[in-house]
Amino acid sequence: MGTRHKEDQLRDIRAVVFDFDGTLAVLNIDFSEMREQVFELMRKYGVNEEKVEERYLLEIIDEVVPILSKSNSSAAEEFYQKAHLILHGIEMKAAEEGRMLPGVKEALISLKRKGIKVGIVTRNCEEAVRKVVPDIEAFCDVFVSRDLIKKVKPHPEQLTSVLKALHVTGKETVMVGDHTIDIQAGKRVGMKTIGVLTGRVKKEEFEKAGADWVLEEASEICELIPPSPPLVKGGGGGFSKVDKKH
Ligand SMILES: [Mg+2]
Repeated sequence: MGTRHKEDQLRDIRAVVFDFDGTLAVLNIDFSEMREQVFELMRKYGVNEEKVEERYLLEIIDEVVPILSKSNSSAAEEFYQKAHLILHGIEMKAAEEGRMLPGVKEALISLKRKGIKVGIVTRNCEEAVRKVVPDIEAFCDVFVSRDLIKKVKPHPEQLTSVLKALHVTGKETVMVGDHTIDIQAGKRVGMKTIGVLTGRVKKEEFEKAGADWVLEEASEICELIPPSPPLVKGGGGGFSKVDKKH
């Protein structure tokens, strides 16, 4: 695949959506500790991990709740609260040592200056992200943590809500993330996708997941994305694209 041709695909891009942990910030959440503690809690409630079909922890918790509520609805509620306390505790601990990756703040600001809209999405909780970046709104147009929606990525709901807030379509948007979840989520809503190698996923895994590009780090995206095509109010009352020549 020719590079020139591929970069042409970014010509009409109006928005870039970034994942947070491992993409914009150092990934220091201990997911295996999280998993171990939640599975231990599940066993205490009589649910064996062989019973769960979901792959990721938030989805596993949501899967266990209806299993428990069949026999005891207060146990189900209690399990949900306790499981989320485990997640929150580990996320907040990671946030204490959390920091943005070098160059990303500058990259986000530079994209905004080019007229590109910026979104940030995360499966992490709002409080942990704000502990690392209290002024997150200075670097993006919309920030959607898991607290704001029912279903997180790879479910399309989280990215759909970002597209709606930014008034752009999936086709006009690039999703950037350090996990194959980000690639999967982006593709589901028709976005272009970029995997970055600042998390724990390797280039080959991103390629297998169908990522359009793989970059060493998120800040490189600035050079790839040209300024947003200008918007003018069209005759029909809506906004339409104009060719720069006009
Ligand atoms: Mg991530």
